[in-house]
Amino acid sequence: MKCNNPKLCSKKHEKWKKNQRQFIPIGEREHELFLKYFEKDEATLILSRHTDKRQFERVVSTHDINDIIKHGWVIERNLNNKTVTLIILGYTRTYRPIHLVCKILDDKTWKVKTVYSPISKKYKWSKDFQKRICFCKEN
Ligand SMILES: [Zn+2]
Repeated sequence: MKCNNPKLCSKKHEKWKKNQRQFIPIGEREHELFLKYFEKDEATLILSRHTDKRQFERVVSTHDINDIIKHGWVIERNLNNKTVTLIILGYTRTYRPIHLVCKILDDKTWKVKTVYSPISKKYKWSKDFQKRICFCKEN
């Protein structure tokens, strides 16, 4: 698998960077707030059924997910139909990069929509897995 339209994706990447420079700091504040509750055991992290399945297939434990929520950082924030979704990047104990796609239900309630390792689609991400560089639809 690779990028089918490098020119277009490079343009989209520039736009993405510009947007995310503005959105990521907002996501970071949302993440910090959630962690404040999470550390006091006052937050709820819901794992979707899809996440469950993915966890099993991709061998990511709930422990890993909790670790990544605590120690990971926001690499993308999207607002769609009044719903905020954040992508959190973190590493497992075996140094496997993981992206958690989290939906903010409210300050104390997040839902992990899906979990994957960006290694599985390396061409879509910068070398550090922090920046989206390919926007091609999956074939
Ligand atoms: Zn592409």
